[in-house]
Amino acid sequence: MSSKGKGVAVFVDFDGTIARRDVQLAILDRFCPHDWRRIFLDCLAKGQKSRCYLPAWYRGWKVPPEEIIAFIDQEMELDPHFPSFVDYCQRHGYHLEILSDGLDIYIAYVLGKEGLAVPYKVNQVDFSKQGAAIKFANASSCSLCAHCKTASLQEARKDGFTIIYIGDGVSDECPARHADLVFAKDSLLTYCEEHYIPHVSFHTFQDVIEQMPEEAFLKEIPSSPPK
Ligand SMILES: [Mg+2]
Ligand SMILES: [Zn+2]
Repeated sequence: MSSKGKGVAVFVDFDGTIARRDVQLAILDRFCPHDWRRIFLDCLAKGQKSRCYLPAWYRGWKVPPEEIIAFIDQEMELDPHFPSFVDYCQRHGYHLEILSDGLDIYIAYVLGKEGLAVPYKVNQVDFSKQGAAIKFANASSCSLCAHCKTASLQEARKDGFTIIYIGDGVSDECPARHADLVFAKDSLLTYCEEHYIPHVSFHTFQDVIEQMPEEAFLKEIPSSPPK
């Protein structure tokens, strides 16, 4: 996001938000050689997040990427209203970007398949004969998240954007604290309620479109300092 100016930046989670199912969890269920749920809960119990569980999940994987792609192709289902939301943002001149703590391999594939030209930031994974290796391409000062989405929000804040965040899960907790308005469902909804984070609940992108604030209102949201 290089152009300076006041506008609206909309950041959206992928798994469980744009994709109806959590694609990453479906991949883990199908291919992960470890007890990934226990790894996940152990990390959360220690106060850790994806920086802890992501490398542990993919340790020692020897699954050919083509097999993963073939699986995703079958299992994948997007929120049917997401393409309309992409249009909505384009029509209003909003910056729309996907921030995911999932993997580049399936997000690039799905967006390509649907013909959706939306920029995205995500973790990268290399599959080799020695096993999979996660690269923290978008790691930041936050020590908890593999891809800490907050860095993108802070950059948008610096550039004077009003920030809307849309998500459903653990990887959305960090950025939700830095948005002007949060659309939340599932565990993120509970998190927002428990932490008094102003939010709107939603199920589909049709709900989001219907509840997007008027532009006049967006201009009035004071640009709050980073929390
Ligand atoms: Mg999610
Ligand atoms: Zn973080």
